[in-house]
Amino acid sequence: MTTTPQTNASFADMAELMRTHDNFVICGHVSPDGDCLGSQLALYHALKALGKQANCVLVRDEPVEDSLSFMPGLEEMVPAAQYDGFCDVFIGVDVPTRERVGAAVEILDRAQTSITIDHHAADQRMCDLAYVDPDSASASMLIWEIVKLLCDKPPIESAFCAYVGLVTDTGGFRHQNSDAKAFEAASELVSYGIDLAHISTKVFDSRSLASLKLEALTIDRIEVFADGLAAISWVKQGDFDRLGAIKADAEPLIDAVRSLSGIRVACMLREQDGKVRGSLRSKDQTDISVIARSFGGGGHKAASGFTLDMPLEKAIETVRAQIEELLG
Ligand code: 5GP
Ligand code: MN
Repeated sequence: MTTTPQTNASFADMAELMRTHDNFVICGHVSPDGDCLGSQLALYHALKALGKQANCVLVRDEPVEDSLSFMPGLEEMVPAAQYDGFCDVFIGVDVPTRERVGAAVEILDRAQTSITIDHHAADQRMCDLAYVDPDSASASMLIWEIVKLLCDKPPIESAFCAYVGLVTDTGGFRHQNSDAKAFEAASELVSYGIDLAHISTKVFDSRSLASLKLEALTIDRIEVFADGLAAISWVKQGDFDRLGAIKADAEPLIDAVRSLSGIRVACMLREQDGKVRGSLRSKDQTDISVIARSFGGGGHKAASGFTLDMPLEKAIETVRAQIEELLG
């Protein structure tokens, strides 16, 4: 594991700080995915088991993906804008920058102290204490290490949620980040007695009908370019309206584009709140995070995202040009 220069604390330092404080707000990022929620909830259950006052916040007041709605503790999460309680320690997980914590930035600013535990490289340190390891397949693997330091007997809910983070961020242990450490962590988590088949069915086979219909449109619109090395597709606001789809229904669409044989880079665009949200994936060593960052977004080398404030047609053209240049 290689941490970034922003790392200034160890897991032991963080566990010690958690042990000696009582009130926590645990926050993730906008459009929370399985690793974000899994990391938040794994820590939440551990702190609760220690008798701490822990609160998990959703950065935005939006429903999460159907496929993640089974996670234990999700029903206790509150939108950050509605959290008016105390915040002794702010803990940001799976989130590297202030922009990505949305409405929770107000909680971060009034916290007595703050901690970041993440696997996204960022130029700056968002919190007082930080542990950032971009080599970690999921943020939830890092959280699990802290949970083990905190609890002699980690609650099974923590193992369950940490596993959801790991299995989702590795795409079911298929992506480039699935290394030996990821399998070691998986093996350990499984040994706690979590029901793997149940998690897999929920996570990978519980799409809403609207999400599948969006995928049909996505596949229909795929354009292959850059000499066959890249593919792009998109969904429009009108598609969401017509199908009764919500934002979360669009999260898995990038995987359909990514699955195309022969391409190195996949891109999925969607109209959202009058802007265009983009997801990028690379299937080899190509670092597509440079493109996401050039648009003000970020993420990992093989999986990143961004938002463009321009019409969809212009966004398609702009992103295509950047991908062509990168692969050129
Ligand atoms: P997705 O395409 O699934 O939305 O995101 C892929 C990865 O990139 C995730 O790790 C996500 O946290 C990160 N990411 C997505 N959008 C943004 C963004 O606008 N800014 C930053 N910094 N990271 C992003
Ligand atoms: Mn993650």
